[in-house]
Parts: sequence; C-alpha cells; structure tokens
Amino acid sequence: MSFEDISLADPIQQALKEENYGTPTPIQRDAIPVILEGKDIIGCAQTGSGKTAAFALPVLDHFFRKPVELGPKQCRAIVLTPTRELANQVANSFLKYGKHIGVKVGTMVGGMPMGPQIRSLKEGLDVVVATPGRLLDLLEQRLVSFKNADHLILDEVDRMFDMGFIQDVKKIIREVPKSRQTLCFSATMNASVGHLIDNITNDPVKVSVDAEVKSADMVEQHVCFIRNQDKADLAVHFILKERERDPEAKILIFTATKQGADHLLHRFKDVDIKGDALHGDKAQRVRERVLERFRGGKTQVLIATDVAARGLDIKGIDTVLNYDIPKDAETYVHRIGRTGRAGKNGTSYTLCAEFDQQVFNTIENFLGKRMTVYEDHPHHFQVLADQYKALFGFAIQAPSSGGGLIGARPGARRSNRRNRSSRNR
Ligand code: AMP
Repeated sequence: MSFEDISLADPIQQALKEENYGTPTPIQRDAIPVILEGKDIIGCAQTGSGKTAAFALPVLDHFFRKPVELGPKQCRAIVLTPTRELANQVANSFLKYGKHIGVKVGTMVGGMPMGPQIRSLKEGLDVVVATPGRLLDLLEQRLVSFKNADHLILDEVDRMFDMGFIQDVKKIIREVPKSRQTLCFSATMNASVGHLIDNITNDPVKVSVDAEVKSADMVEQHVCFIRNQDKADLAVHFILKERERDPEAKILIFTATKQGADHLLHRFKDVDIKGDALHGDKAQRVRERVLERFRGGKTQVLIATDVAARGLDIKGIDTVLNYDIPKDAETYVHRIGRTGRAGKNGTSYTLCAEFDQQVFNTIENFLGKRMTVYEDHPHHFQVLADQYKALFGFAIQAPSSGGGLIGARPGARRSNRRNRSSRNR
C-alpha cells in the first residue's frame, strides 16, 4: 500500500512526496482511513511508529475540504501532549504536512512566555498543540475559545496520567463541543486510561493494539550484568566503543534521576566525552538548546530522565543505554523506542545490577523473550548472571503467536510455563 492509495487531498500528498514518505506505517495504514470517515479512534502506538502523521494527515485533509472562517481566539483542532518537546514536534509535523494548505499552528506550552502564545491566538488558529497546564490557564483567562473546535487529539494519554495531568485534561475536555471527533493515542493501555477514553470517545475504533511490542522487536536488545559501582565505567566503555565504530554515532542514556544524569555527565567530562543532560530542572530554552546540539551532532551523548525524553523524535539514535533499569516494562519499551525508529534497526543495552533482577525479569516477561547477555566488556559480573539464570532462567512463551521461545532449554517448555503462570497469580 502506498500513500496514493489513501484518498488524501493533493496538497497533502505533495507534502508527503517532498518528505519522501512512500509507504504508510502500520498505524497510518490502519488509522487514516478510519479517521477520514469521521470516526473516533483509540490508537495503541508509541512515538516512533509514525502516529503523528496518522492523526495529522486526516485532520489536515478535513481542514482542506471544509474550510472555516475562524474568529479571534478560536481553533479547529486541539492536540494535548504530556511534554513541551512532544508539543513542539507535533506542531512542526502539522506545519510540515500542511505547508501547501497554509495551515496555522500554535504551540501553547508552559515554561515559555505567554505573550507570544496569546498573540498567535488572536487571529484564530487551525491547530492548537498544548500541554494541559498552559492550555487550561489560557482557557480560564478566556484567551482561547473552543467554540469551533471539531477535533480533539490526546497524544500519549498514558503518560499524561503518569505525570499527574489528568484532572487538567478532563477540565479541558469538558469545554470542547460534544460533536467533535476524538482521537486518542497511547503506547500502553491500563484500566485508568481505558476508563477515561471510554468516557470521552463515541463508539471508537481501536487500531494496532500490539504496536508497542512490535516496535520493540525492531531493536537488538542486550542485558549487561554488572556491579553498581562499575556502571559509570561501563557507560564510558560503551561510548568509546561506539565512537570507534562510528565517530558520529548518537547515544541516548537513561538515568532514573536528575542527579544521576548530572553526575554521569560530570564523569564524561573527565574523559572528554561531549554530552548534555536533559531533565526537568532545566529551563525550556536550555532543553531546546540541548536537543538542538544533539540533533546537530555537536554532542554525541544525551543523558535523559524518562519524563524529559518522552516522545523525543531524534533521527539516527544508534544506541540506547539503560544506565538505570527502567521502573517497569512500559517505560522500557518507551525508552528503547527512541532507537530503531521508522523501520530502522537500533541497539539497546540494559544494565542490570544487584537489586534490579526482579524488575528486569518483569521486562523480559512482558516482551516474551530473553535478551542476549552482553559479556564482551571488562565489567561483566558473572556471579549475578548465574544468579539471575538460577532464579529466572526458564523459557518464556512469547505473548503473540509470531514469537518463539528464545533461550529455552530443551524440554523446559511445559514446566516453565506452569512456573510463570503460578508466579503471576
Ligand atoms: P512519530 O511516531 O510520529 O514520532 O514519527 C517518527 C518518525 O518517523 C518521524 O521522524 C517521522 O518523520 C517519520 N515518519 C512518519 N511516518 C513515516 C512514513 N510513512 N515514512 C517514513 N518516515 C515516516
């Protein structure tokens, strides 16, 4: 299937040609025709799957086919995102895909002066892309009106829950006309997310339920068993090795805390590794500069916390290093989704230290496979590797029929499955 098989208006097709998009990604293939029919949608897809175009293209098509005269402060589509960075990326995508229809887009995010945002709203906007707190602020001051809004898009709903924005989100939704079309995207679904989505959508169509596991499959995933005190040395070892392989390689490192990120950055400076840290303590302008430097290749390493890195679309990240183990399997999938983007392969390394085994096992269970143990480095901790194998070293049944048993011992399948289900209870 090519984009030409989807009935998107010519100026949008033209923009896609200029972007060299030939084939729609699975979420685009499944979601765009449904959205074009005017139906509500629940898209289960993470950043990197092409989900921005999946919702932006049909919304732009609607703008083109049904032009509306917008009054001051009005908008036609509202996109809510959990982070400022994601808001900027989504706004840029609308501008890119809608350049031949002259789409007007505004970004309303916290941490930036309100003046320019208010001014951009004065003439009315086709799309307002916002983080919930700032948009609610503008709404309460009557600086924005949703009277003409016919599209509501919630991007990364699960993360908006995680970040505690959901009350603001609900207040905003109450102000959007009920006749709207609602498009919800979430990388993961749980009871809270499902309940909210049920309440705000009308007979939604669900697409690409297992997208997150599929995109994780695009990444070559390794685990390194290691002592806590050796982690920084191993990170340095990886970077130098990557640099030797490709002097321009980009490496994204995740730490659990802001302090951890700063500390590691300090360590890198000692060995002349050019990097930056990205976390919530940094002012918005600094965060943007950090990203710019990384995107432009001025720095080779970006150390980020989960909140700051959520939704980042940086092309050409070769390696993701989970310096601190992610808190759960969903976070893991989000993290490694930063590499292997849009059909390209990437590599990830997860450091598993003394107290990380339980969480690491939850991640392997979620993925339905064992990761390759990477030992080719000076800090491999064989005792921990053996311990992990003794505790959890049975085979895992892949969650979908497509997968197989990885790392299975002969004859272990039946008893191991029994083991797993009894532990899950
Ligand atoms: P997203 O998941 O929306 O953050 O998109 C991830 C990346 O994939 C972005 O850099 C897009 O420009 C790119 N992309 C999205 N759709 C396509 C497509 N159909 N073909 C090629 N690249 C795409």
